[in-house]
Amino acid sequence: MNSSEKIILSVAIPIPLNFLFDYLPPDNCKLEQLKPGLRIKVPFGKQSKIGILLAINSCSDIDISKLKQAEQLLDTEPLLSAKDLKLLHWTQRYYHHAIGEVFISAFPTALRKGKSSELKPTPYFALTETGQATDAITLKKAPKQQALFKLFQAQNKALNTETINQHCKLWRPSLKALLEKELVYASNFLALPAKTLAITQQMPLAANDQQQAAIDTIKAKLEKFSVFLLEGVTGSGKTEVYLQVIEQILAHNLQVLVLLPEITLTPQLEARFKQRFAVPIETYHSQHSETQRQSAWLAMQKGHSSILLGTRSALFTPAPRLGLIILDEEHDASFKQQEGFRFSARDVAIVRAKMLNIPIVLGSATPSLESLYNVDKQLYQLLRLPNRAGNALPPSLSLLDIRNQQLQEGLSPPLIREIKKTLAKKEQVLLFLNRRGFAPTLICHSCGWVAQCKRCDANLVVHYRQQKIRCHHCASEQPLPRSCPACQAEQLRPLGLGTERVENALQMIFPEHTSVRLDRDTTQKKGALAEHLNAINQGKVDIILGTQMLAKGHHFPNVTLVVLLDVDSGLFSIDFHAPERLAQLIVQVSGRAGRAAKKGRVIMQTRQPEHPLLNSLIHHGYQAFAQAALAERKAAALPPYSYQALLRAVSLEKDTAFEFLLAVSELISGYPANGTWVLGPVAAPMAKRAGQFRYQLLLQDTQRKQLHLLLNRLLPDIAKLKLARKIRWSLDIDPIDLY
Ligand code: ADP
Ligand code: ZN
Ligand code: ZN
Repeated sequence: MNSSEKIILSVAIPIPLNFLFDYLPPDNCKLEQLKPGLRIKVPFGKQSKIGILLAINSCSDIDISKLKQAEQLLDTEPLLSAKDLKLLHWTQRYYHHAIGEVFISAFPTALRKGKSSELKPTPYFALTETGQATDAITLKKAPKQQALFKLFQAQNKALNTETINQHCKLWRPSLKALLEKELVYASNFLALPAKTLAITQQMPLAANDQQQAAIDTIKAKLEKFSVFLLEGVTGSGKTEVYLQVIEQILAHNLQVLVLLPEITLTPQLEARFKQRFAVPIETYHSQHSETQRQSAWLAMQKGHSSILLGTRSALFTPAPRLGLIILDEEHDASFKQQEGFRFSARDVAIVRAKMLNIPIVLGSATPSLESLYNVDKQLYQLLRLPNRAGNALPPSLSLLDIRNQQLQEGLSPPLIREIKKTLAKKEQVLLFLNRRGFAPTLICHSCGWVAQCKRCDANLVVHYRQQKIRCHHCASEQPLPRSCPACQAEQLRPLGLGTERVENALQMIFPEHTSVRLDRDTTQKKGALAEHLNAINQGKVDIILGTQMLAKGHHFPNVTLVVLLDVDSGLFSIDFHAPERLAQLIVQVSGRAGRAAKKGRVIMQTRQPEHPLLNSLIHHGYQAFAQAALAERKAAALPPYSYQALLRAVSLEKDTAFEFLLAVSELISGYPANGTWVLGPVAAPMAKRAGQFRYQLLLQDTQRKQLHLLLNRLLPDIAKLKLARKIRWSLDIDPIDLY
């Protein structure tokens, strides 16, 4: 085999196998065109696939005569820079995930499918010199033109069609007229030199002392890698700190990546950024169309855009002049991808900042225990905003003991009195219950039969309005039975509390008051959530009831009473993360109260009024809770005092997944002992889900390096196990859910 003059292309292909595939170059392809990071179309099985060229070699492990020829290069220049590739390689090694799936995840869907990387120019419109010197009054005979003209004057910057759409309706004829009158000119955004645009178009707020201290500290270290943890309660003005730091970065003509949890990516925040800055801003999240995401990604990648606001999936977006990363609500679980390529956008963002030698700011009202631990180790710098900005007062928290209370659909008499008092003052009440549906259980009063899902280890949830019982873990549902399938008695009773049931109760107890329910069932229709939020903010709603969805992002300035109907369900969980989650949830939900001038109150109904966690949180605050929780983790050698990797396996037959994990644990015991703990295999907390049996094997080590060395050795051996091909299995590094 003579391979000396051959050119071999090593390509990462998005399939769940962790190796590169070798190809011969496509026809008419010159060596200097071949660069790592190019998208390339290759034959694969009976179809073609789009992969990423990662290496250009002169030999292959495969007999060269057997190599297929690649079909086509899709880019002339790589879309990923050398630094992007380095980050992806690091990420692949850390998560031990299939290389093609890791690399393809850097691209938006359209580019994964092979769409062109040309960025379509965005037409934009701005006042001409004549336009700037013209008084809007001269257009009084054409009111529509006048309105549009005034918009240009008010915004005083170039507008694209999207922005015009937000302010005017049926504006195209008016724009045409203004263009003809030469009051406005059209151009293409990309032709506009970045320098001609002002950075800001709105004065920053006068920072309070704590904000100023945070801003100054960050600004003093903008030139190199550091991690700042900005801890501030909701409403303390973190966003204002971000905005003022970003302004400085933009003044150096650098780009900024702002990562947010999916749920907080509200139009309000986007609007706030767009009001403050005149520079091009892109947003990137799953509600955008493929084309929108593609153009946001390319605008950043080509350096045309200065700010990208995005969710987890925006993490790898190339940005040639990246100068700062901000990651808001850093404790939020949505930064961890929970399927396929299970990466933590927070952790990888920190690595990205380190590789680029730029600062990263993590913000949260309730920082994760990992981040607080890193503050203790002096790896992160803590900046605190202990007070609410402006004049808003912090809410007061209290526990309401509901033992021995006669509850009316989950509402105790003292609670009902408090709600009445609040409503009488024409203030809003927010009720939180993290369980949708009418009731979580349907039980027979006569024989004790319980409606259970046949495919999961779970009870079916009663949805009264739709007359259904449904499983919340798989898609199964059935009509609500009238009599017991076991004993035929007409004695079926819904047991427990869901939001639908509380909603009914509210209408009975407070008939004069309007309420709205916000949960997945009431917000599924596109635009429904926005509609509800509007009604709330316009004061058309007195009582807001909802799930998790309420905890984050939304501002309800007239809410002065927040109620957590049932905190106890969060106190008892086998997952060691549960107390942290519950404390975060309590603080986040509390943050919805009294954000304007009115002081807020938070009432938590509990049957555990002495519970140490609840009490440390209420009497000493989140920091005290976090320190206590960290001490517990330390005593139990749990993360962040150790590192975990979780192998999950599922199978249709009862024992196969278990046997597979048993074989894995036997592999490990065959290696020289290295101190890594192996726990399991055990059944997952939900042992059966959607018809699949689920097991897990937990690996834990106090030395991260040891754990990864073990995995490096273990994974190729697992791939050789016969059982590995019969079942589905996955590896989760730093798991945040042990389900
Ligand atoms: P967070 O991001 O911490 O929730 P925000 O930055 O959204 O807080 O601030 C909460 C509210 O306080 C906003 O309405 C904001 O305009 C206002 N605010 C923030 N900083 C100041 C300040 N320095 N002076 C006056 N108002 C402020
Ligand atoms: Zn029965
Ligand atoms: Zn089910």
